[in-house]
Formats: sequence, structure tokens, C-alpha cells
Amino acid sequence: MEGAAVRLLRGSALVRRNFLTCLSSWKTPPRVLKSSQPETQLNISSDRLSCAPLQTFTDEEMMMKSTVKKFAQEQIAPLVSTMDENSKMETSIIQGLFQNGVGSFCLSEAGAGSDPFALKTRADKKGNYYVINGSKMWVSNAEYAGIFLVMANVDPTRGYKGITCFIVDRDTEGLHIGRAENKMGIRASSTCPVTFENVKVPEANVLGQVGLGYKYAMSGLNIGRIGIAAQMLGLAQGCFDYTIPYLKERIQFGKRLFDFQGIQHQVAQVATQLEAIRLLTYNAARLSEAGRPCVKEASMAKYYASEVAGLTTSKCVEWMGGVGYTKDYPVEKYFRDAKIGTIYEGASNIQLNIIAKHIGKEY
Ligand SMILES: Cc1cc2nc3c(=O)[nH]c(=O)nc-3n(C[C@H](O)[C@H](O)[C@H](O)COP(=O)(O)OP(=O)(O)OC[C@H]3O[C@@H](n4cnc5c(N)ncnc54)[C@H](O)[C@@H]3O)c2cc1C
Repeated sequence: MEGAAVRLLRGSALVRRNFLTCLSSWKTPPRVLKSSQPETQLNISSDRLSCAPLQTFTDEEMMMKSTVKKFAQEQIAPLVSTMDENSKMETSIIQGLFQNGVGSFCLSEAGAGSDPFALKTRADKKGNYYVINGSKMWVSNAEYAGIFLVMANVDPTRGYKGITCFIVDRDTEGLHIGRAENKMGIRASSTCPVTFENVKVPEANVLGQVGLGYKYAMSGLNIGRIGIAAQMLGLAQGCFDYTIPYLKERIQFGKRLFDFQGIQHQVAQVATQLEAIRLLTYNAARLSEAGRPCVKEASMAKYYASEVAGLTTSKCVEWMGGVGYTKDYPVEKYFRDAKIGTIYEGASNIQLNIIAKHIGKEY
């Protein structure tokens, strides 16, 4: 959920690219990526395309992609296993990832997970400031965050319409960050409880309008789900890319593992599912960038991408046999990291609820 805080702060207008700009960039000769070989670029003249394929990127997107890839390969990859082991993110990585500082998103509580509007944190108005009291759970990046976006209810008699979003500085008196959870996966990202004990926040620190926190939270989560889908897609693709060359080298029964049809069919099934989640994710992202409704599509992408990431990483561990099960190879980490996709920013059943609700309205 770390992305949600950043998104809320930046404001949707800044983040979403204007639809026309997006379309005009597609009029220039697009670069088409083979989805399973993201580095390969083909230039196809625009007059041969009536509609750009989903795997078409603008120059700006290509630049962002290569910057992220370079940073991941050169800066993050060498430190990954140490950070996972120590459950700590290196300072150089925090600085590289969050040049504008880290923000944390505080919505969940012990009694408010899948049902976030059941939150009990209160914000009581006293003159020109609010006093916040309550306990938040599962706050991503809390150890490194400079600011916290805190969802608190200013008037519980109004139910969820009392939920308001406050910007709270880390050093504010009464804000306590608890011990980081000892997690199964994404261990370098700190996840902590945060408590608020008579935390005084000036009125000016209300984000947007009083009582609209629930709307901001939901719109942040909806868009955030596309981010989780992308996270799961990248994770699954990375695991697959690591494993296939191994299958083409490892010899058993006098043949490469990859040459057994039993393996080939499984590989083909996983590759097809990877392609499906890529298209679901890109479609949801394009809809969002175009400012079009995408709640159902974002939930579908998040739901299915996390399922496929679980399946892909599990298969990769299995295909590599004993070595896949050890920490000498990265696939066991991919397997552990994949599970969170089915839990945060709305667990899988919650995504299915959202999808079903839309289908109910459509028919
Ligand atoms: C690593 C990590 C980081 C997180 N980061 C943040 C963060 O930065 N900020 C933040 O606010 N929160 C964060 N969360 C919290 C996360 O969003 C919640 O854990 C999640 O929404 C699920 O809530 P819960 O854990 O209380 O599970 P529960 O709500 O208890 O759900 C447990 C199970 O019951 C199922 N279930 C619940 N309701 C229904 C229903 N109506 N129908 C069918 N099945 C149902 C769920 O699908 C799930 O499988 C984080 C969690 C983790 C683990």
C-alpha cells in the first residue's frame, strides 16, 4: 500500500496522463514489445496499425522502463538476499526509490481489514486542530516514512462519511511506531503497527475535504490494485525468466528437462497465463490513464495476477527440483513474495466481490 500514499499526495491530475496526449503519442511510430522478451523492440509504421496493441509503449514509458530496470539490476539485485535475510531495506535503496521521501498509508486496523470502514480511530476537533487517537496495523514502510496519511473518523454518527484523511508528520508527539512484523515475504519492506495517542494535527493538515476520506481511500486502492497486478506480473515473469534457462541446461534421463513434453506443456500453460495477466494489467492501466472507469478491470487484473504469480512461482520451484527449494537460488523468494498479492489492497475474495458486484449491475 506504499504506492497509495504517494498517489494520494500527488493528486490524480498529476499522475494520470491526459487521454489525448496518450493517443497522440501512439500516432508516432510505436515501439512494440514482444511480451515475453521485453527488451526486443520492433518499429512498426503507424499506417499499418489501426489500433495500437496493448504492448505498445510511448517513448516516455520506454525511458521509465529502462531506468527502473537499470536501477533494479544494478542497485537492488546485489542486495536483495541480504535485505530479505535481515528484514531491512538498505539506505541507498530507500534514497533511490523514494527521492521525495517516504509516505505511509494508515487505513487498516485490528478490527478493520477487509472491512476498512469499520475503523475505530477517532479525530476530535478542538478549535483549529484535531486530536487523533487510535491504532493502525500493517502500515507499509512505517520505519522509513516521513509522513503518514491517516484515516480517522471525525464523526462516527455519520458512519463511513465521517472518515477523513490527515497528513501527520512522523515527529508529531504521540505518534508511536511499533515493531516491524516478521513476515513470510517482501521482508525488506517494513510493516508495522502505528499508534496515535492524543496526536495534535492542525486543521490545515486535512487532505482534501472533511468526510471524504473514504472516497480518497477507495480511489487510491482501486488504482493501487493495478500497481499490485504489475508487481505480481513482474515477479512472476522474473521467476519464469530465471527458471526456463535452467530447464534447458539440466539433464536427466539423458535429456534436457525442457525436452520432456510433460514439462513443456506445463511451461506453455504458465506462459499463457503470464500473457493473460500482462494484458489484463496493461488494459486496466490504459483505462485508468485514459480516465475511464476501471474498477472492475483493476480488480480482475489484481485478482488474476496474484493467482498466476502464486502458480508460476510454485511451478518454478517444482521444475527446479531440490535446488529450487534452497536459498542458493532466487525462486523460493519469488514464491514467498508472491503470496502477499492475494492479501493486501483487498484480499482475493474482496476482488471477487467487486467483480461480481459490477457483473450484477451490468446484466
Ligand atoms: C505486508 C502487508 C502490508 C500491508 N500494508 C498496508 C498498508 O500500508 N496500509 C494499510 O492500511 N493496510 C495494509 N495492509 C493491510 C491489508 O490491506 C489487509 O491485511 C487486508 O485488507 C486483509 O485484511 P485482514 O488482514 O484483516 O484480513 P481479513 O479481513 O480478516 O480477511 C481474512 C480472509 O477472509 C476473507 N474475507 C473477508 N471478508 C470476506 C467476505 N465478505 N467474503 C468472503 N471472504 C471474506 C478475505 O478474503 C481473507 O481471505 C497490509 C497487509 C500486509 C500483510
